[in-house]
Amino acid sequence: MKIITILGTVIAFLASASVWSWSNHTLVSHQLVQSMPEVANAAPVKVESLAEFLMANEQQVAQLLAEDEAWMAENLWHYNPRPDALAFTATGSQDDVVKRFTRAIRINPNAKFALYLQGMPGSQLQGEAMDPQRISVFKNLGHLNELPLQALTSGDLVAAVDVVVSANDEPDHGHDIGLFTDSGTDYGQEFGFGKQPFGNPNLEYGTQAPFHMGFYHESSILYALGGFLKETYPQMRIHQYKRLAELAFANGHDYWGYRFMGWGLHYIGDFTNPYHVTPVPGNSTLSTIWVGLLSMLGFPNAQKEAVQLVSNRHTVLEDFQSVIMTKAYSQHDMQHETIQALSVNEPIAEFHEQDMIEVFAKKSVEKADAMDAVLEASFPYEYVSDPSVEYSEVVVLEELSAKVKTHAGEDGFATLTHSISDLLNDFSVSGSAYIHEILKAKQ
Ligand SMILES: [Zn+2]
Repeated sequence: MKIITILGTVIAFLASASVWSWSNHTLVSHQLVQSMPEVANAAPVKVESLAEFLMANEQQVAQLLAEDEAWMAENLWHYNPRPDALAFTATGSQDDVVKRFTRAIRINPNAKFALYLQGMPGSQLQGEAMDPQRISVFKNLGHLNELPLQALTSGDLVAAVDVVVSANDEPDHGHDIGLFTDSGTDYGQEFGFGKQPFGNPNLEYGTQAPFHMGFYHESSILYALGGFLKETYPQMRIHQYKRLAELAFANGHDYWGYRFMGWGLHYIGDFTNPYHVTPVPGNSTLSTIWVGLLSMLGFPNAQKEAVQLVSNRHTVLEDFQSVIMTKAYSQHDMQHETIQALSVNEPIAEFHEQDMIEVFAKKSVEKADAMDAVLEASFPYEYVSDPSVEYSEVVVLEELSAKVKTHAGEDGFATLTHSISDLLNDFSVSGSAYIHEILKAKQ
C-alpha cells in the first residue's frame, strides 16, 4: 500500500508540472475559423450579455442541463455527478441567473463573462478599449496586456469569427479556477469534484489543470498506481459547451452560439499539445515508476529533476510557438507555415463524441515522444535538459528563435517549426469537425 501511495504521489507531481497550453489561444484558432466559409461569411451577430441570453432561454437551458447531467453521468470517460442542489431551475429572476448557471455547469462564479473582443497581434480594433482586469480573474494578466482589446455593449453587431476567436482564449482567464474542495473557495466545497487529483493548488492558475488536461491512454499499471490520473474534465467541458452552443443557435442567439463554441474549442486545442494528454512525454511507464522507486528509497532528487524537465519542455514548446506565431501575425505573414497548417481542408471530418478521446487526444499522445525528442534537440541544454534550471527564469523570449538557430542550425529550426505545425494541423481537423457539427443546429 505504501509503495502504491508513494508512486502515486510521484506521478501526481509529474502530472502537475505545468498547466498552460498554447499560451494565447487566438493564435491557434484564428486561421482555423477564418478559413471556414460557414463562419467567415456568416452575417454579423448581435451581442448580448450572458444574463440576457439565459433569461431569454431560461426554460430550454433548464431542460438541456438536466438532460446533459444524465447523459454525462452515463457516457463520459470520467465524471463526478453534479449535486442535485446545483441543478438549474427556471425562476424568472434575472438578478441571480448567472450565478444559477455557473453553479449548474460548475464553473468559477467569479469568472468575468465580459463583453469584449480580443484582437490578434498586429491588428487594430475600433471603439473603446477594454481593461484586461475586466476579462481575467488573475493578477498576472500575461498576454492580455499586449493585445488589442475592445469593449462591447449589448446590441452591438460583431463578426462571428471575432466572437469565436476571442472566446477561444477565455477558459484560460479563470473559468476553471478553484473548483475543488481543497481549493480554498466556498464554491469548491459545493461543486462535487472532490479534492484536486493533481496539479499544484498553490499556483495562481494551478487548480485548472484537471480541466485542461486529459490522460486517456496510459498503461494499466500507471492507472493502477495513480488512479487520480483518470480524474480529468476537458471532455465534460467540450460536451457542455457544444450543447449550449447548439441551444443558442437553435433559438436564434448566434452571439452565444459562437461564444460557447469558442469555449469548447479551447479544450480541443489543449488536446493538440502532447503535454496536455500524457503526464510525462518522452518517459516510458517503466522509467516513471523507476523515478518513483528512487524517490521512495530516499533519492527524491530524481523526482524533482523529472518534474523540472517536463515543466521546462512544456513551457519552451508554448513559448516558441507563441513567439513565431506572434511575429508572423504582427508582420501579416499569413503564408507562415504555422498559420497555413491551421487552414481547414475539405472535406471536414464528421464529429463523434468519442473522437475527443479515441481520435483527438490519441493522435497527440502518439506524437508526444517525438515532440519531446525534437524539443531536446532544438534548444540549448540549459533550457530543456538541465534539471537545475527553472527555464522560465532564464529565458529571454526575444532571443528564443536565435537560440534555436545557434543551437540546432537552420535545419533544426525548420524541424521544430514543422513539428509544431503538424500539431496545429491536427487541431484544424479536430476543431473544424467540432464547429461544423455545432453549426448544424443553426437556424
Ligand atoms: Zn487550456
